[in-house]
Amino acid sequence: MHFETLAVHAGHRPDPATGAVTPPIHLSTTFERAPDGSFPSGYIYGRDANPNRRSLEASLAALEGGAVSAAFASGMAATSAVFQALGPGDHVLVPDDSYYITRKLLQEVFARWGLEHTAVDMTDLAAVGRSLRSTTRLVWVETPSNPLIRVTDIAGIVALARRAGARVACDNTWATPVLTRPLELGADLVMHSTTKYLGGHSDVLSGALVARADDELFQRVRAIQIAGGGIASPFDCWMLLRGIRSLPYRMKAHCEHAAAVARFLDSHPGVAQVHYPGLASHPGHAVAGRQMKDFGGMLSFEVHGGRAEALGVAGRLQLITRATSLGGPETLIEHRASVEGAHTRAPETLLRMSVGLEHPDDLIADLAQALEAA
Ligand code: PLP
Repeated sequence: MHFETLAVHAGHRPDPATGAVTPPIHLSTTFERAPDGSFPSGYIYGRDANPNRRSLEASLAALEGGAVSAAFASGMAATSAVFQALGPGDHVLVPDDSYYITRKLLQEVFARWGLEHTAVDMTDLAAVGRSLRSTTRLVWVETPSNPLIRVTDIAGIVALARRAGARVACDNTWATPVLTRPLELGADLVMHSTTKYLGGHSDVLSGALVARADDELFQRVRAIQIAGGGIASPFDCWMLLRGIRSLPYRMKAHCEHAAAVARFLDSHPGVAQVHYPGLASHPGHAVAGRQMKDFGGMLSFEVHGGRAEALGVAGRLQLITRATSLGGPETLIEHRASVEGAHTRAPETLLRMSVGLEHPDDLIADLAQALEAA
């Protein structure tokens, strides 16, 4: 079945009780037992399972081509569940340009529990090979990366990790399964901040994991989801299933608009550098061409000068909204170094954009007037 069809149908069926085509939201936290003590509906208690969550998990597994999925209250709850499924003394490789809270979680929370990690440039396969240890259990990939928009060769990482006996998890939030399907490239797990493109409307905070197999690692993840309780709410699951239906078509527009904005910025004398994998000059262009169907809706660019000049450009924008996050209909821009604080890897001159669904000419006109005044 084609991806667009899966996005509309996977996890959906008319409600057997009423025939409703759009599913109801099941808010009940508890489900009735039969006189013999069994649970004929298959549901017991809302933390264990809920019909909306099951539907969402079925949809996510189908979209990523996985066997199973687990939906969480946020992307970071999903990421935490993967790290919690490892043990003291285990080692994790993480990109040095990952979403900064992923590294913070390893440094400030999991290091205290004996989980070791090394941050490495994942675009350098030789460096990844050198960083693998006999205790490395997991290689965490994030591509394109945040905020430098670096592209990691997932199949290349998988080959190295396999030889070392390590699993590969891929944060596929930015590419989405529309553009990249990491499980097909050999990864074992996919993580999503479904808060972003999958929800698609900047109104749901949630996360998910999809696994290639319902194996021991995933069963530990499932136990952490249910016993730990960091589950996605029925309403959020319903909102996500709704958002996913238009994901393939939203992604087409995000990619087309980002490419237009990137070309404009690349030709503007006020811009020192554009980071967008769709540009032939981007160091990850060839790898992105192989593993992505299109180049995505995220880009970053650097202005001449320093922090004040970058903040000045962002400050003069009138249509584009200054806010964190990504993947919604509205274009967002942020000065990433201000958001990430002291240990940021983002240059002070860098602005990150989530290019939205507005007409790209309007976005370009807004950027042009903000850059003109510089
Ligand atoms: N991964 C990436 C690539 C992200 O951009 C984010 C959030 O910005 C996260 C993970 C964390 O997701 P959440 O905010 O849903 O916990």
